[in-house]
Amino acid sequence: MDSMEPESNEVKTNEIKNSDLKGKRVLVVGLGKSGVASALFLKTRGARVSVSDSKSEDQLRAEIPTLLDAGITVETGGHGERTFRNQDLIVVSPGVPVDVPQLAQSRAMGIPVIGEIELAARFLPATLIAITGSNGKTTTTALCGEILAKAGKSVVVGGNIGTPAVTLVAGAKPESWAVLEVSSFQLETVDTFRPRIAVILNVTPDHLDRHHTFQAYAETKGRIFSKQQAADFSVIHADDATCELLARKSLGRVVWFSRSQQMAYGAFVRDGQIVFREHDAERPIMPVSEIGLKGAHNLENVLAAVCVGVLSGCADADIRAAVGQFHAVEHRLEFVAEIGGVSYFNDSKATNVDATIKALESFPANILLILGGKDKGSDYSVLQPLLRQRVKRVYTIGGAAEKIEGQIAGSADVQRAGTLESAVHRAFEVAKPGDVVLLAPACASFDQFNSYEHRGQVFKQTVRELAAGERAS
Ligand code: ADP
Repeated sequence: MDSMEPESNEVKTNEIKNSDLKGKRVLVVGLGKSGVASALFLKTRGARVSVSDSKSEDQLRAEIPTLLDAGITVETGGHGERTFRNQDLIVVSPGVPVDVPQLAQSRAMGIPVIGEIELAARFLPATLIAITGSNGKTTTTALCGEILAKAGKSVVVGGNIGTPAVTLVAGAKPESWAVLEVSSFQLETVDTFRPRIAVILNVTPDHLDRHHTFQAYAETKGRIFSKQQAADFSVIHADDATCELLARKSLGRVVWFSRSQQMAYGAFVRDGQIVFREHDAERPIMPVSEIGLKGAHNLENVLAAVCVGVLSGCADADIRAAVGQFHAVEHRLEFVAEIGGVSYFNDSKATNVDATIKALESFPANILLILGGKDKGSDYSVLQPLLRQRVKRVYTIGGAAEKIEGQIAGSADVQRAGTLESAVHRAFEVAKPGDVVLLAPACASFDQFNSYEHRGQVFKQTVRELAAGERAS
């Protein structure tokens, strides 16, 4: 069976190696979590680091002292043109669009512009596993981490989830595996990034406000394997037409996963069993019934993770045990409570239409659905068939409410709730035993919340208060 022992990344064509950072002028643009982590990492490697963010000093109050203490120069409230000139390297945060004029100017001057994932990959001694997709990245990344850990491997997990990839460098060893969640924004700024195992879960419309066209977005996802070589693995979803097209561009060995077809090389389902096949050899991994996650989409995530487990040399029993013990990551179709026979599910991470479709597909009927937030240029009309079949009422919230109402008109009973709390209260008033109250908003959260996590917390808090009130009465 095709597996492999961990080995350190081969020497890549790094423009900047460890020693090269000493004394180099490096600018970090954008002070999100990964920007701060990059700046501190670069400083420990001896670079002369400055950071620049368009937010005001006041908004960045939490981050600035740590940076100043580390001897990093901080520019806030905008990017001075000169800041971008005298640099040897620019590290750009995923939140910053790569086409801003200052970066274009720096590139034209020959200054390399990379992202934090690229920076981290140049220094991580570990073997890289990278996971991307429009949906399911966090769930699959966390699950892969659990599988490798169960199999007794040294593993670090991070990237777009939890710990920034540069922060993993300190704890990784040559025999380690680094499981990285990578977003399309992060893939825009990779260069030599070469994961030994690259996973593309699915490609459905998202972030069109940033990538402009679906094709551009899909091509960005394909960058995950654009530097792979023949010995590397590209794990790809066979039932996703865009993934299939992208796979043709992989230079590695393509390993498929599918819910509906039996693959010659990869993971699939047959007679209720997950099987991994490599041409003539088959490994029965586990019964589907043992999966601890809800929904058909999570079966896809499990199949992808099974491929990763097999390809990284994990024993079948360890894969089976880890998958069986793994339950929903917070805010991903997370069960919150049952009140008077009504179930409440928090899928605040359903920030695009496809994730909402998957959430709706996870319940057969009687859904009271909360939709809305900050629109990302999405087409909500594709929700109509599922709304007709399964949804009793939609409550709209946030800035996208009017657009959503226009695009789903006629397919469901719709009420404008305005806020999340109001939507939960209204649903609570009318829900009957057997109903499901589902937050799967298909939008970003930033118009009313700091983040999807914040939105999910508010949902859970509101539900818990209702539950406590019910118990008291
Ligand atoms: P990501 O990190 O890509 O955003 P998550 O695991 O956080 O992925 O899940 C995001 C949302 O997508 C959640 O609403 C989740 O229920 C849904 N989801 C998870 N896996 C899939 C999948 N394979 N296909 C479609 N939707 C999915």
